[in-house]
Amino acid sequence: MSDKHSIDTICIQGGWQPENGGPRQLPIYQSTTFKYATSEAMGKLFDLEAEGYFYTRLQNPTNDAVADKICQLEGGAAAMLTSSGQAATFFSIVNICSAGDHVVSSATIYGGSSNLLTVTLKRFGIETTLVDPDLPEEELAKAFRPETKCVFAETIANPALVVLDIEKFARLAHSHGVPLIIDNTFATPVNCHPIQWGADIVTHSTTKYMDGHGMTVGGCIVDSGNFDWEAHKEKYPGLTTPDDSYHGIVYTERFGKGAFITKATAQLMRDLGAIQSPQNAFLLNNGLESLHLRVPRHCENALAVAEFLQSREDVDWVRYPGLPGDKYYELGQKYMPKGTCGVISLGLKGGRAAAGAFMDRLKMISIATHVADARTCVLHPASHTHRQLSDEQLIEAGVDPAMIRLSVGIEDKADIIEDIRQALEA
Ligand SMILES: *Cc1c(COP(=O)(O)O)cnc(C)c1O
Repeated sequence: MSDKHSIDTICIQGGWQPENGGPRQLPIYQSTTFKYATSEAMGKLFDLEAEGYFYTRLQNPTNDAVADKICQLEGGAAAMLTSSGQAATFFSIVNICSAGDHVVSSATIYGGSSNLLTVTLKRFGIETTLVDPDLPEEELAKAFRPETKCVFAETIANPALVVLDIEKFARLAHSHGVPLIIDNTFATPVNCHPIQWGADIVTHSTTKYMDGHGMTVGGCIVDSGNFDWEAHKEKYPGLTTPDDSYHGIVYTERFGKGAFITKATAQLMRDLGAIQSPQNAFLLNNGLESLHLRVPRHCENALAVAEFLQSREDVDWVRYPGLPGDKYYELGQKYMPKGTCGVISLGLKGGRAAAGAFMDRLKMISIATHVADARTCVLHPASHTHRQLSDEQLIEAGVDPAMIRLSVGIEDKADIIEDIRQALEA
């Protein structure tokens, strides 16, 4: 497989390449260990002198085939699967940040990512400054410190549906000599290629559209190979100076464009063990084989639902970056001309009370703590994910107490709209 194939072809053909007489479908290497003929052959693997598998906590052939597919989809140089999207975010940051370091992150990111950065990583001595991604470049530049090691943001923020100006963030990161890490979960590589716009590292919660069927929790990190770690040697000693836990290997010297992913595999997977199970990687691969068909349908359905909601008197507001007139419509058109995502947020005229009543009356659409799934589902953050907060605290956290998050699936859009209509009118 090569870069000349289109996304649609890579979804189907990328990754697993059978040898003559080999299985056409991706095999599940349901094995913790791998056998070698000589002690020396195995020793070379431990020294990273030869490529191969020895223990599934570090690497597994099923996982690597799927990571390779996602790597091609994103146009990257190297990739790895992780056990969850949270693990992907965690690894992508701690691979280059240690105690005393600092991260500049968009404030409008997934709640789990913001907890990871501002609570858990803070306990580890890594500080994060959250910034309003819509601020002008000069304002955003004030968040940087000498110890800043990376910038983090989402292509389309979950659940705020803010579209990131990726070029602005890439310029900002690079003018401060640090890489831009983008969580591309909501847009998927079908709709957006952050690397083409200057992102250096891309992460995914594959739990969402990539799996697409609500079957497996998983994550992925893709490195573009574009960031010049050597040019900022003093900032990234973990990549550019000898690793004592691997007999003095210097990742950038030995692995070039593969340095970031090799270090994350050799050190972080070894020590933290957040590997995806080969069984889940197999299921994820099945999901990826229809990603290019599902994502456009999610977008088509979501736009139809957003237009319907906008036409209703009983709907107070609708937010969808694919909807003309939305605050992020222009940025969406620039970075995702084929479509944005399937997630919409809305508020009903009756506020918080009306939200609960509306959701209880839905028949086909289910109430679920999930998004980006084949089945349409709804969530009321004030009653569910942010339940512990008062209305006042909700507003402070940027969550409207009335806000309903609607993840539009790939059913017939007429049936989705009809279910919403009857629930509004009942
Ligand atoms: C769900 C989600 C995550 C976390 O992923 P898990 O697979 O649930 O660990 C990270 N980023 C975004 C944008 C998400 O939607």
